[in-house]
Amino acid sequence: MPSSDTVLASIPSVDHVLNLPPIVAMTERYGRPMTADAVRTVLAKLRDSFAAERPRIAKPIDDETVVPLVAGLLDSWVQPPLRAVYNLTGTVLHTNLGRALLPEEAITAMTDAAREAGNLEYDLATGKRGDRDSHLDTLLCRLTGAEAATVVNNNAAAVLLCLNTFGLKKEIPVSRGELIEIGGSFRMPDIMSRAGCKLVEVGTTNRTHLKDFESAIGKRTALLMKVHTSNYTVQGFTKTVPEKELADLAHRHGLPFMVDLGSGTLVDLAPYGLPHEPTAQETLAQGADLVTFSGDKLLGGPQAGIIVGRADLIGKIKRNPMKRAMRLDKVTIAALAAVLQLYANPEKLLERVPTLRLLARSRDSVEQSAQRLLPNLQKCLAPVAEVTVEPCDSQTGSGSLPLTRIPSAALVIRPKAGKRKAGTAARRIADAFRSLPRPVIGRLQDNAFWLDLRCLEDEQGFSTQLEKLVLADEAAS
Ligand SMILES: *Cc1c(COP(=O)(O)O)cnc(C)c1O
Repeated sequence: MPSSDTVLASIPSVDHVLNLPPIVAMTERYGRPMTADAVRTVLAKLRDSFAAERPRIAKPIDDETVVPLVAGLLDSWVQPPLRAVYNLTGTVLHTNLGRALLPEEAITAMTDAAREAGNLEYDLATGKRGDRDSHLDTLLCRLTGAEAATVVNNNAAAVLLCLNTFGLKKEIPVSRGELIEIGGSFRMPDIMSRAGCKLVEVGTTNRTHLKDFESAIGKRTALLMKVHTSNYTVQGFTKTVPEKELADLAHRHGLPFMVDLGSGTLVDLAPYGLPHEPTAQETLAQGADLVTFSGDKLLGGPQAGIIVGRADLIGKIKRNPMKRAMRLDKVTIAALAAVLQLYANPEKLLERVPTLRLLARSRDSVEQSAQRLLPNLQKCLAPVAEVTVEPCDSQTGSGSLPLTRIPSAALVIRPKAGKRKAGTAARRIADAFRSLPRPVIGRLQDNAFWLDLRCLEDEQGFSTQLEKLVLADEAAS
């Protein structure tokens, strides 16, 4: 075994590596600055790992060791950072996995909008400056029955913009039962204070009465607000004020009534076997003056925040200078318009909007898919785990229909390792699936790795890449 010093001294210089023919070829392809950066990074790492793991390095470091490391690093640097995965978590609208999958019509519209100049803010009839909302507001008004509409970056922005437009330095009463936190950092009290509004908490966690709102209204009240409790329900001895009553109360005091629907939808989901989620049009019909909801939750479109309601209020919102900081880009506008156009024909919705199609998919259909994939999975995992098909529950996700469990089916991978090691073994299996060319994301539960197949539409692609599965336990045994 060579001495430590020999190994350390064998690490080549940056200049030496940069002049090696394969690296010169890489310079042509990736450019000199990036290639030099990669070489420096690789050599520094070799030096560091030598310092950290001195005893394990057994042979001097030669050019043949360095070249593939540089190639690998450069390759990783030019990979698109966003990678397609299989969402087999059972959560259809998974925020961390990008929420709604877009309809083909929307994808085509996005590509076209990205490629060419367009009439984004240009009125083709007059040759004058146009309004980017004009591509969406007519559609939104037709679908919801609203007088006017505007659209921003996401629903959090929609809420922030409404609150800031009407509530700056004023008070907004909200029921204590509706001070929501939506995953990550959207908390109603924080949004209120960042919007410059003073939150006035009314009622209690479980019960809020009309009189609580009534006594909270004062000279500084900006509007009344209702927040849809998207990701939880309060059960038991509860009371909330119906929208109609809150709207009437607001109007008696000359105040607008705003509803943050969160997910919201434009169609009744009951015919698809899902519980009823309030639609924007119903909420407006109950007397709401402003309704906000997301583009990429149940609507099944791109990330966006939609505001519909009274024309005078929407006009004020559009004149708020913050609107500019939250506006949609042309690609998203194209996608959202395409999705909204699909809603004009409800009969074809299920076929064309993936979110609705996946939510409505029957348990039988998911189970049949699982049975078809079972033999191959059993074969690939035979050395380390047993695979079975079992019933499970999918969920909508993204704070939509929080209590709804959708009957589904999963491939359940149970490690053969003894009970004590089963948890670690299951995690290793999850790691292996995540390391596939197109990573497979499932969920760990009861020391097993569960793949809910509700969202798997490309069975063939999934099955084919299983042969690339590298199972750590197998290598060790
Ligand atoms: C999801 C949600 C939001 C945030 O919407 P994004 O589109 O994620 O910004 C706000 N309010 C409610 C009630 C929600 O459910």
